[in-house]
Amino acid sequence: MGQSFKAFPSMVLEPTHCPSCDGIDVIQHGKTAAGKQRYRCQNSACKRSTFIQDYS
Ligand SMILES: [Zn+2]
Repeated sequence: MGQSFKAFPSMVLEPTHCPSCDGIDVIQHGKTAAGKQRYRCQNSACKRSTFIQDYS
């Protein structure tokens, strides 16, 4: 029979990656005053330590 599986878009979890080194070894690092999620890059070779994810 024609049973089609539908993916739930809301279930798709893309790993947060660092905008500087593009690594995914990041952890949540609190929030900014504006309420945005701040992340911290765990890559010791990365020159950026924290960043804010901005999705347009
Ligand atoms: Zn990084």
